[in-house]
Amino acid sequence: MTKFAEVAVALPMDRIFHYSIPLNLSEDMKVGKRVFVPFLNRAMVGYCVGLTDEADVKNVKGIISIIDKEPILSAEMLKLTRWVKDNYFCSWGEAIAAVIPAGIKKGRETIGSRLKDGEDVLEKFPQSKPHDLMEEQSRALRSVIESVDKHEHKTYLLHGITSSGKTEVYLQAIDHILKSGAQAIMLVPEISLTPQTIERFSSRFGDHVAVIHSRLTAARKFLEWKRIKDGKANIVVGARSAIFAPVRNLGLIIIDEEHETSYKQDDVPRYHARDVAEERAKLNNCPLILGSATPSLESYYKAKTGEYRLIRLTKRVDERLLPKVKIVDMRMELATRRRITIFSKVLLDAVANTLRCGKQAIVFLNRRGFSTFVNCKKCGLVVKCKRCDTVMVYHFDEKKLICHYCNYTAKPPEICPNCKSDYIKYQGLGTEKVESEISHSFPHARIARMDSDTTVKRGSHDRILGKFKSGKINLLVGTQMIAKGLDFPQVTLVGVVSADVSLNIPDFRASERTFNLLTQVGGRAGRGEDGGEVVIQTYTPGHYAILAAAKHDYEKFYHEEIVHRKELLFPPFINLTKVTVRARNDDLAARTAEELREAIKCEGPEMLIAGPSPAPITRMRGYYRYNIMLKNKERLEACALLKKVLGIFRKPHGVLIAVDVDPVQM
Ligand code: ADP
Ligand code: ZN
Ligand code: ZN
Repeated sequence: MTKFAEVAVALPMDRIFHYSIPLNLSEDMKVGKRVFVPFLNRAMVGYCVGLTDEADVKNVKGIISIIDKEPILSAEMLKLTRWVKDNYFCSWGEAIAAVIPAGIKKGRETIGSRLKDGEDVLEKFPQSKPHDLMEEQSRALRSVIESVDKHEHKTYLLHGITSSGKTEVYLQAIDHILKSGAQAIMLVPEISLTPQTIERFSSRFGDHVAVIHSRLTAARKFLEWKRIKDGKANIVVGARSAIFAPVRNLGLIIIDEEHETSYKQDDVPRYHARDVAEERAKLNNCPLILGSATPSLESYYKAKTGEYRLIRLTKRVDERLLPKVKIVDMRMELATRRRITIFSKVLLDAVANTLRCGKQAIVFLNRRGFSTFVNCKKCGLVVKCKRCDTVMVYHFDEKKLICHYCNYTAKPPEICPNCKSDYIKYQGLGTEKVESEISHSFPHARIARMDSDTTVKRGSHDRILGKFKSGKINLLVGTQMIAKGLDFPQVTLVGVVSADVSLNIPDFRASERTFNLLTQVGGRAGRGEDGGEVVIQTYTPGHYAILAAAKHDYEKFYHEEIVHRKELLFPPFINLTKVTVRARNDDLAARTAEELREAIKCEGPEMLIAGPSPAPITRMRGYYRYNIMLKNKERLEACALLKKVLGIFRKPHGVLIAVDVDPVQM
């Protein structure tokens, strides 16, 4: 009989704790169950990750009680969470906590009892039939199926232009999985989890589908989790966290839009679902498909160097043409019309033409709000957030200034708080202003706006898209929320108000983001028979990201971008680990960051270290932040080094340190 349980707790301590197992519990104690343990004078939930006959300390405390009748963590999940802990700088307990649904984290055995029996999990949709595949699609499907049947792990990068039928390949691959009695996980970005996507899966597979996303209530999430665990749902469709779905016989993982940054979690554990997926596929000897029209540089590089298998879909379904793209040089517009305009003549004419023909248009700007800054024309003051180094954005609907980083709100000033003049100007451009301006130009258009301001309420997102689908709306203004995955055949025009927004962010991925966004949003045009047109307005018409996007030429973009990455030593050539030191006192934060850098240098003289340098937005929510960047070949090395250094580093009171492996935000 084993005497001690090895217990992980969800605290930032990189170790497990030993507890003795009282006799009356010894039969019941199993690895993978949750337990209550005494911890710092209170009862805490822990996860039993192992059993042993020897304790590592003398005065071992006893387990208070066992929570679960059956283990909630499989051996596979324990392995996977341990991998997360080793790779993403968190404790095993923190990794486990991220894997189980929030509803049962606090130690309740089940929350299922609060749900009515037979509560409908998904709407029912009429059955849809598979399409006859095109040549390229069949070849892709055959390769994947071969790996499935051979139980071999292989990562496929499915690089297919928009509307080339990638999703149809996923659907048929999953169908094969179902027939072979296995299970599949399909990840999509959170914002693509629209009824449209869910309908495509549900209409093909009915009750076999479980859907997991952040808008579900805790009870509903738990129900879905349970259906998967009990083998009642064989297909999991979900956002990032669905990669941890408790399937038992995993045969295939698919990540759609694999380049999306939303696959990276920005809280502890800061994992990247793409990398977790690869590890999980390895553990299960099954293939992983990464799909995208604009693969991440990292994935494409791996495909080029043979680590991934590259599969291309180069033809659009029904031979639909890719939309024609016009780049409008806004500098010329300024010169000829002698005033700053939001819309060029080209774009206005295109919108007019589209509406006249009874078609629909999308107008895209990746910035919400009305005016993006408010300033005094006399002394030059720009209104900033009290807590961040950010400029406050004016929102017309609410008549408020809002900080987009911390949501701090303020009343717009009538006189300048600095020089008391009343020469206050509202400048800069957000979607709210675009909507208002375009409704002046086209008073008869039926306009709606979709961004995170108009979709706060549950269901509003779906409602707007529903109106657009049915034609009640013919002009949709929005942020990146409308750039992804929408398939509306009546949309023949996409206007990009400014391509420069994402190009000017201080991030080594700025060009990549811009190329992706332009390609994705452009792909919304011409999905029907009438073809499509894209108008891109910019002040930097010569930029390679814009030029390549206009030509639909991913290869061209990749070849330019990869040269910069190599020169400047950024991913995919190295792994990046970001250490952020923050404190309310600027000096203290800066000084501690310097000291930490020295400590890292001392322990790991080989490691390439950049910084510390102030974060792009140095002050956030009242904290001053400094970043240290580690660059190295092996992700694990940086993690191990940091665990060692931070284990002995004497951090002054009031200082917080966070480690982000493979950061997607600088
Ligand atoms: P992607 O995921 O690459 O954007 P989809 O799989 O969504 O492309 O396909 C675009 C549209 O074409 C969808 O409406 C889909 O049902 C349809 N489609 C996909 N494959 C075929 C095919 N082989 N024959 C006919 N229609 C297809
Ligand atoms: Zn002033
Ligand atoms: Zn703020």
